Amino acid sequence: MKKIYVFLGPPGSGKGTQAQSLRQSMDCVVVSTGDLLREEIKRETVLGKKIQTVVESGGLVPDELLIAIIEPLVSGLSQEPGAVIFDGFPRTVGQAKQFDQLLSTLGRSIEQVLYFDASLELVLERISGRRICSYCSHTYHVVHVPPKQTNVCDECGHSLIVRDDDQANVVRKRYQAYCDQTAILRSYYEDRCAVIDTSQSLKVITRAVLDTFGCGNRC
Ligand SMILES: [Zn+2]
Repeated sequence: MKKIYVFLGPPGSGKGTQAQSLRQSMDCVVVSTGDLLREEIKRETVLGKKIQTVVESGGLVPDELLIAIIEPLVSGLSQEPGAVIFDGFPRTVGQAKQFDQLLSTLGRSIEQVLYFDASLELVLERISGRRICSYCSHTYHVVHVPPKQTNVCDECGHSLIVRDDDQANVVRKRYQAYCDQTAILRSYYEDRCAVIDTSQSLKVITRAVLDTFGCGNRC
């Protein structure tokens, strides 16, 4: 049965990159609420329109909207071995409690929470290099995860862009909102949370993540 992991950290902490590389190297499904939200916006559903208004103003999506999107996913979790990583969810204690309740009704629980610690300075530096495929949403970084050909997606050949919510003023706002909301969340998860220092090299960070997964060199 897939073990459930939660990746926490401010936008730009690199948790998404780690999740993506784990997906490629081991039996692992990544649930990115960011992708789910963008998909909902793209489909222009009622939920999607509400979400778009919040995102454009630089705010955070309300709990009830996120839970509404997460619930069908959790109920459909595979019985196969491997891991499911929730990337960027939950963000509030309210969400965490509802998530715990949801898992408990399914006889499940979170295996481990990983907190990707990063300063605003570091986040700004990282995000300024971030690019996303305009077609398939695969993410890159001009320094850390460059595409083979400049500004072209390795996966599908479409052009890479800077997302609206990767602009510096929006990033600052989101970082502050994230820190305000998650300070208390970290204490909620204290007994099952490992802190990853993301000011280190990508290699060291990856090693630290794999150690918490308890899979050593294998993955
Ligand atoms: Zn692509």
